[in-house]
Amino acid sequence: MDAEHMGKDLERVLVTEEEIHARLAELAQEIWDHYAGEEFLLVGVLKGAVLVMADLMRALPGSAPMDWMAVSSYGSGTKSSGVVRILKDLDTDITGRHVVIVEDIIDSGLTLSWIRANLESRGPKSVEICTLLRKPEAAKVQIDCRWVGFDIPNEFVVGYGLDFDEQYRNLRVVGTLAPHVYS
Ligand code: 5GP
Ligand code: MG
Ligand code: MG
Repeated sequence: MDAEHMGKDLERVLVTEEEIHARLAELAQEIWDHYAGEEFLLVGVLKGAVLVMADLMRALPGSAPMDWMAVSSYGSGTKSSGVVRILKDLDTDITGRHVVIVEDIIDSGLTLSWIRANLESRGPKSVEICTLLRKPEAAKVQIDCRWVGFDIPNEFVVGYGLDFDEQYRNLRVVGTLAPHVYS
C-alpha cells in the first residue's frame, strides 16, 4: 500500500504527530519523577505499543530497561473478544521490581485488566499503566491508569502502532478510517 493510498483511507486525524511527541515527552518526565531514582521496567504490549515505547523511552531523562509481552484479544476485526491469551511472555522475572505497562490504547479495558492481574500475581514491587490513548465511553471495566496521553471518542482508530488488519501501523498520526476501507 503506497503512502497516497494510506492517506486517502484516513477520514479524520484525531491526534497529530506533534501532539503525540509533546505529550509523550511530558509523560516520560512524569514517569521519571514518580520513581525518584528507583529502577523501573517498561513492559510493552506487542504490537500496538511499539511506537509508543520507542518515543516514550527516548524522551526519558535517563536509562530504563524494557521487556515485551504479546497477547491476543482482537484478531483482525474491530471488536474486543474479551478472550486473552499470552502469545509471548516476558523474558525477565519481575519479582520485586517496579513495572510500567506501556500500551497503545485502552478500549474496553478487558485486555489490560487481565494483563495487570497477571503481572501482579508475579510479585512485583508495583504495577502502573501508561497508555497513549483511552476511550472513556468504551470502558467495560474500571482500570486505574496513572498515565494517559489522550482521551478520544469511542471510534475505531489506526496509526502510530494501531492497525486495521495489520495495516496502517506506520502512519505518523492517529485517525479514523474512511467507510470505504471497511466495505
Ligand atoms: P481492549 O481490551 O481495551 O478493548 O483493547 C485491547 C486491544 O485492542 C488494544 O490494546 C488494541 O491493540 C486493540 N484496540 C482497541 N481499540 C482499538 C482501536 O480503536 N483501533 C485499533 N487499531 N486497535 C484497537
Ligand atoms: Mg495494545
Ligand atoms: Mg490490532
